[in-house]
Amino acid sequence: MSRNNAKKRRKTGGRKLEFTIYAIGIIIVILIVSLMFNMVGCVCSKDDPEESSDASSVVSDVSSFDEESSMNDVSSTLESSADASSTVTSSQSSKFVRNTLSNGDYISYTKSGKDELNEWYLILVNKDNVLASKWTPNSLTKVADGERLDSRIITAYNDMLKAASKEGLNIYPISTYRTVDTQNRLFQNKVSRVKAANPSLTQEQAEKEAATAVARPRTSEHECGLAVDFIDVEERFANTKEGKWLKANCTDFGFVLRYEKGKESITNVIYEPWHFRFVGIKHAKRMEQLGMCLEEYVEYIANGGK
Ligand SMILES: [Zn+2]
Repeated sequence: MSRNNAKKRRKTGGRKLEFTIYAIGIIIVILIVSLMFNMVGCVCSKDDPEESSDASSVVSDVSSFDEESSMNDVSSTLESSADASSTVTSSQSSKFVRNTLSNGDYISYTKSGKDELNEWYLILVNKDNVLASKWTPNSLTKVADGERLDSRIITAYNDMLKAASKEGLNIYPISTYRTVDTQNRLFQNKVSRVKAANPSLTQEQAEKEAATAVARPRTSEHECGLAVDFIDVEERFANTKEGKWLKANCTDFGFVLRYEKGKESITNVIYEPWHFRFVGIKHAKRMEQLGMCLEEYVEYIANGGK
């Protein structure tokens, strides 16, 4: 009897062990399957182009143009909010000019309701008017090795260089369209140089100083393909034949010297006699006449100026 009981117990114990192993096996299988599903989910969301182009993303893009979000855009890219507070009050144009998406490719201005401000060639890009994260430039055309500009300004650009050539001047570009990544690299390089020159500066201070010479990513006109730096990015360029000719004649072709001497407090950019920006002949002439930089001019138009 006692032997039979012992047998029974062994039998029951064996069944329990079998059941436990079986249960553990099922749990492991469930874990593996759910892990596989998770992995598949990750890959899809990473590579799925639909993710970045659905309607809700576009809407959030538009709303990202309000001041605070724009600042977040820049600061998250750079992991710093160095200029956030000063930016809000520094530029007059920021009081009423807002960027918004226009036909998905260029930015226009909403508040004024002035048709002219909706034109692609009057796009204002600066530290207050940040390009949307999904913004892409118009088609680009090669103008030199590694240099491209918005295809719509190529005729004007070529005409300007041809006219200079007739005067015996060899004017060539050294920086034109830049990707956001390129702009970011240039900016970070500048921050490093500023820090090397003055190690006592904090990261914030170094970035703020760097931003007066090299725009933060998504705040540079170069990212639109409408701006070009010629020959030499030093102030001495202003005194060369080429620099003088460009300044005197650029408006005939729809370009302006974008960062003039004396406008630094409005543009928040140093004097750059090498940097020219296409705005179209009519506006270039008008800006020259009025002695306005683009920030002032956009404000002027928004207030009803003609
Ligand atoms: Zn430039």
